[in-house]
Formats: sequence, C-alpha cells, structure tokens
Amino acid sequence: MRHDAVVLGAGIVGICVALHLQKRGRSVVLVDRRGAAEETSFGNAGLIQREGVYPYGFPHDFGALLRYSLNRTIDAHYHPSALPRLAPFLWQYWKHSRPARHAEVARRYAKLIEHCVDEHEALIAECGAEEFVRRTGWMRLFRSERERDLRFSEAERWRSEFGVEHRALDARELQGAEPHLAPVLSGALHWTQPISVSDPQGLALAYLRRFQALGGTFVQGNAASLVGEGGAWRIRTAGGPLVAEDAVIALGPWADVLTRALGYHFPLAVKRGYHMHYRAAGEARLNHPVLDTERGYFLGPLRRGVRLTTGAEFALRDAMRTPVQLARAEPIARELFPLAERLDTEAWMGSRPCTPDMLPVIGRAPLHARLWFAFGHAHHGLTLGAVTGRLVAELVTGEAPFVDPSPYSAERF
Ligand SMILES: Cc1cc2nc3c(=O)[nH]c(=O)nc-3n(C[C@H](O)[C@H](O)[C@H](O)COP(=O)(O)OP(=O)(O)OC[C@H]3O[C@@H](n4cnc5c(N)ncnc54)[C@H](O)[C@@H]3O)c2cc1C
Repeated sequence: MRHDAVVLGAGIVGICVALHLQKRGRSVVLVDRRGAAEETSFGNAGLIQREGVYPYGFPHDFGALLRYSLNRTIDAHYHPSALPRLAPFLWQYWKHSRPARHAEVARRYAKLIEHCVDEHEALIAECGAEEFVRRTGWMRLFRSERERDLRFSEAERWRSEFGVEHRALDARELQGAEPHLAPVLSGALHWTQPISVSDPQGLALAYLRRFQALGGTFVQGNAASLVGEGGAWRIRTAGGPLVAEDAVIALGPWADVLTRALGYHFPLAVKRGYHMHYRAAGEARLNHPVLDTERGYFLGPLRRGVRLTTGAEFALRDAMRTPVQLARAEPIARELFPLAERLDTEAWMGSRPCTPDMLPVIGRAPLHARLWFAFGHAHHGLTLGAVTGRLVAELVTGEAPFVDPSPYSAERF
C-alpha cells in the first residue's frame, strides 16, 4: 500500500503531525507499536503551558546543587549508577542553563510557546474535544514570602518580554480561589493564559479520531523496520508492508533507537516522571492545577481524580521504576489538600524526551531526503504538540512555515 507520508509514533506529537498532514490532503499512515497515546502522552499533568517560555534549566546556584547531590529532594532524583552514561548530557545541559545562554534559549523557545494555546484551541474546536478542556489557567503556590516575591518579579519581566499574563495572589486571595488548600501558603502566581486538559490521552484520541475521519490510517508496527529503498520509505506493519514518500520520526523518548540506526548521534536523555490518582476527601475540590513550588510536586484536578505528578528523575529510560519522589511527595500533598485513598494500584511512569539545549528537534533530517524529525519536547510535549504538528506539516508540504524552524533544526548537533 502506498501513502504520501508515514508518521512513526502515535504520542501527542505524532498524532498532531499526522492530523495536520491529512488536513492538507496528504494520505497519511500513523504507526505505533502500541495503541495511541499510551506512553508519555498518557499520564502527563495536562497543562498547555503558555507561560512556559523558559524551558526547565539545570540549577546553577550552589545551595540547590548541594541539595540535589544528596538525592533526597522531591523535585529531582537520580540513579547514581546512571551518572557515568548521563554525564555528557548533563554537562551540556548545565552549560546551556547558564543564565545568559538560558535567556537566549528562552527567546527561541518562546517563538513556539506563544502559539501553543491558539494551535490547540483550533484543533480542539475542529475535533469536538471541548469536554476535556479547562480554561482556568494554573497556579504556582508559595510557602515563603521570599520565593513568592522573587517569582512575582520574574513574572513581571516575562509579561513585558514574552506577553505572558498572570495575577499575583496574596494568601487571602488564594484562600478565596482554593478554599480547600491548607492555610500554610503566602500566595500564588496565577498564570491566566494556559489551558489544561482533564485527560491528556482523551484529547490525543479525539485528535486521532478526526485524523481517521479525514481518511488517515492508524496501524500497529515497529518503527525499527523502516528502510529507505528506491527513493521511498518502506515499513512492515500489522496491516502488511507499506511504502511512503515522506517519513516523520515522532518517537518521543525512543527517537534515538531509530535515528542511531540511520546514522544520527543526538545527545538525548530522558527525565522520568510518575503519577498517582487520589479521590478528593469529602467535599474537597481543587479548582486549578497547582504546583507546590518549594516542595516540588504538582496536583491537578483530572477526570480520574486528583493527579499527583512528580518532577525529574535522571535515570536510563529502561531502568527499573523507582517512584521515590511520589513516596516523598504524598504525605506533604496530603497536608496541603485533603486527599483520600489512592485510585491506582501502582504508580504510572513516563519519560520526558530531552535535548541538552532544551529545544525540540523539528525539521528536515540532514542526511536523508524526505525524512523529518519531531521529537525532544521534554516537559512540554503536550503544550507544543499542536504547534509542532502544524510546523512539520508545513515543512513537508512546502508551505511557508508559520514559525521560523531554524532554531530547532537537527543540524545544530
Ligand atoms: C510526569 C509528567 C508530567 C508531564 N506534564 C506535562 C504537562 O503538563 N504539559 C506538557 O506539555 N507536557 C508534560 N509532560 C511531557 C509530555 O508528556 C511529553 O513531552 C510528551 O508526551 C511527549 O510526546 P511524544 O509524542 O513526543 O512522545 P510519546 O507520547 O512517548 O510517544 C512516542 C510514541 O512512540 C511509540 N514508539 C516507541 N518506540 C516505537 C517503535 N519502535 N515502533 C513504533 N512505535 C514506537 C510509543 O509507543 C509512543 O506511543 C509531562 C511528562 C511527564 C512524564
């Protein structure tokens, strides 16, 4: 069977690429070894982060480094045995996180981020996915006045530099907005432009249904069977062998498995993260997704229950699961918000696909004709899925891209 394009990986990024290509009249086959959005795009915190102009950097202050080195924090955890393999990535990541360089990265990143809500809103309307969307923004909670005031002034700078809007809430205003949070907080930064979803996989499946309704095909198959032959791409799938003119690699944390086989050596790593759902006790209600900033975990009102998500775990992608951050966060979260019993039998884990310069890899593959990359979205794959989908589809079809793709090019490695 011959198609115009094959998209490898049916996470939120691959689904958005496939949908945007199909919308442009291409015949597209989307391939995944599992069902759609069953990996990283399944269990994230559900935020579409218009405020996320500064991708999460590696800390540079001595106090934070010391805390992290003890490996007892909630927001970060590492496997000591993985450090020799991760060292080259961490070194590059540290260098790109130096304040002046980080600011430069943010200016490039912001060009994608600024479109994230608009691009999702367009797909949400087209796909009839309104039921998943909450337009409440989200909140960073603060325990100390020092941290609060520091972040308030940072938010002022982001407003003037990047057009990111916020409301600065004192303790009393926060209690009004979130009456069930314990009165231990000094205030909150309410990011007002972001939207959130009550079920990240549900949103991805709504986009997939639209792709299929437009004539797109979703099929099971192993991306590792992709070969270039006679000016086209061939792949084996459960539906038989397929041929396509263009191939897009959107394999998230597994992108390097295929790119390495094709001769590319990207310095990729993962930051793993966990989630657990809880029933809210009694009549308790969480009105916004919230980050307990100084403790380093996240609570969101999702469809299944209150979802607690954890920060970064530096480990090899396939190493044993070690949800220690979840174990550390849970008692603190219970003191902050009345959580009842756990709703999942075990913690979910996902792997954020990361590049050391914190920018995704989007665009043409340098060594192969008609091969395209769409991976490395780290903490913001849901946020940037729709933007990436449109940008890749415009590049593949030769339209003028709505965002300059050059900062995200694979050639920078
Ligand atoms: C705890 C946590 C919280 C997060 N919160 C947020 C948030 O609030 N907002 C946000 O924007 N982002 C968030 N993220 C990040 C976000 O989830 C990821 O960036 C995003 O899901 C990556 O999407 P993807 O499509 O690139 O990868 P994936 O969703 O992992 O998709 C990759 C696909 O490739 C498939 N695949 C792998 N190997 C093969 C193969 N050999 N053959 C065929 N298919 C294959 C997999 O089955 C998978 O379906 C969070 C992540 C975590 C872990």
